[in-house]
Amino acid sequence: MRRIYLDHTATTPLDPRVLRAMEPYFSEVFGNASSVHAFGREAKQALERARGTIAGIIGAEPGEVFFTSGGTEADNLAIRGIASAAGGRGIVTSQAEHHAVLEPCEYLAESGTPVRFLPVNIHGSIDPESLREAVGPSTALVSIMHANNEVGTISPLAVIAEITHAAGALLHTDAVQTAGRIPLDVRALGIDLLSLSAHKMYGPKGIGALYIRRGTAIDPLLRGGGQERGRRPGTENVPLAVGCAEALRLASEQMEEESARLRDLRDLLENRIRAAFPEVLFNGHPRERLPHILNVSFDASRLPLEGEMLVANMDLEGIALTSGSACTSGSMQPSHVLLAMGRDTGTAKATIRFSFGRSNSVEDVESVVKSLEGVIARMRKGSGR
Ligand code: PLP
Repeated sequence: MRRIYLDHTATTPLDPRVLRAMEPYFSEVFGNASSVHAFGREAKQALERARGTIAGIIGAEPGEVFFTSGGTEADNLAIRGIASAAGGRGIVTSQAEHHAVLEPCEYLAESGTPVRFLPVNIHGSIDPESLREAVGPSTALVSIMHANNEVGTISPLAVIAEITHAAGALLHTDAVQTAGRIPLDVRALGIDLLSLSAHKMYGPKGIGALYIRRGTAIDPLLRGGGQERGRRPGTENVPLAVGCAEALRLASEQMEEESARLRDLRDLLENRIRAAFPEVLFNGHPRERLPHILNVSFDASRLPLEGEMLVANMDLEGIALTSGSACTSGSMQPSHVLLAMGRDTGTAKATIRFSFGRSNSVEDVESVVKSLEGVIARMRKGSGR
């Protein structure tokens, strides 16, 4: 059975070109990038080249890019690091952020930092006017994601930056789903901190970066040897940093062409699903959204299906998707993003997400629709509807 992977929002396969770029730094170039001898200098040069590549692509200076262990650490460093340096000033974020942002914000709120979680509209983005009302002199940081990982909606970052800066606060954005997928320029967008992660753009897992605008006061999460100019101590992971930069470079190089291709596949699937299942709801902004994500809710009142069951049945057909639920403490909880957007629990639970990537083709769309029709017909029969 040919398997079809439609979960590129969860992770992407490693690009063989990225693997080749990393290989020498797992073997012959093994020096500690902080050592002063030739072995160390060679590793350091590769690390700095990687930093420079990332900086060049996102419109930053090399000294503003700090390697982390991934998107989660970059988000934590931005939020907890700024809060720690901000002397009690608060944070404003949204209810639809990734857990890597929500959890550190909730943790800070529990320990006394003022945190506001702004509601989102039916498309999953905040109303800039609600941000204007929420920020003020006591706000240190606003953290709003560049695009949502579940429904793909892109945030109006330029206006968010304007409001944030007018209030004297800093803007952090989680760009884990957008780096390498849509154009990104920290200066043009007015961003002070930006998180990215390599494994979402055909790079290795366990590496990411945080852009921190020069002059920003931020405390490190870790204390140690002073690497990454003290902001992220720990012996530098040179092979993974090289892989992160190469992944971003390659993804950016083919961005325009690949985005158009994925948009066509996504639109084809959307049209085919709409034709086959007229009762479905599509989640996310109809235009301001990432090209490769399609998030679909089945009408729970007409077809009481659990997205999780649908995902399990599609998996048996060799098709990998994600549902709109997450396993928390052993039970399936509806997605916080869909609930924040105003979907009811039943609808949120009857949701699946398709996310396209480099390996997908028109034939995949045809196979998916065929399997979906078969699986849903069987589930309907089973439920007596
Ligand atoms: N932020 C967003 C929007 C994500 O989609 C993810 C991964 O799912 C993360 C952060 C976490 O990134 P990482 O897996 O590199 O820790």
